[in-house]
Amino acid sequence: MLSSYGLGDFDSGVGLNQHDWFMPKRRKKTFPCGHKGYGQICHRCAQEEALKEQQEQDRAQKRMEKIQWEALFAEDPIDLTALPPHVVVKSRTIVAALSAGQDYREFGGKRLRHNRDIISIPITRNYRMICHDNGTTTVPQEVLSHEDYNVKKPGC
Ligand SMILES: [Zn+2]
Repeated sequence: MLSSYGLGDFDSGVGLNQHDWFMPKRRKKTFPCGHKGYGQICHRCAQEEALKEQQEQDRAQKRMEKIQWEALFAEDPIDLTALPPHVVVKSRTIVAALSAGQDYREFGGKRLRHNRDIISIPITRNYRMICHDNGTTTVPQEVLSHEDYNVKKPGC
């Protein structure tokens, strides 16, 4: 008799289903949010919640960086607020180098032909820093785009 109750019978689902009785089938349920799933909480909503939280943290981080970035302009000896960020960064390195006593010629700076007291230092292809030579130091005055430069004609 024992031979007819082999392992095969348990798995076949014939008669009393021992397998289901010992290991109840996990049933999908509907959460209050309307999603269906397993477990105590809705994983779809939990995932969305985590994503929202991450995005909120990213936004807070960006706000903080913006505030810090804007605060730095107050420390610049010249107004750099209207310039693109990479021009701001490059301008600051040159301002710092000049105030540390480095020669403007190290940055490709040149005196204007029509006004030898004015020095023009290239920042990027489209921007240059106008400085005044006060005899001992090179004092940054402003950073101009190519277009602004042609309109203002510094040193004239
Ligand atoms: Zn949900």
